[in-house]
Amino acid sequence: MLYINCPHCGLRSQNEFAYGGDATVKRPELNKEISDQEWDNFVYLRKSPRGKHLELWHHISGCRQWIKVERDTSTHEIFKTYKANEAIE
Ligand SMILES: [Zn+2]
Repeated sequence: MLYINCPHCGLRSQNEFAYGGDATVKRPELNKEISDQEWDNFVYLRKSPRGKHLELWHHISGCRQWIKVERDTSTHEIFKTYKANEAIE
């Protein structure tokens, strides 16, 4: 069982959260022409990294805020959590 330190609520069980995917994916700029392949890559193409990774989690049974979690995908160790709009160092 993971325990995630929500920056809004504090330490909570993983059961209160829903995984939201890779937090490093950037949406293409608005009103910019992009190819079908670039759009396809944005929508469907995801890496499956082993090791430290920045992820989105939704505190669905708590404050209902989206947060970013820096987690090791092989050990599940959580290094740090951030508010969704917080700059990452
Ligand atoms: Zn929360």
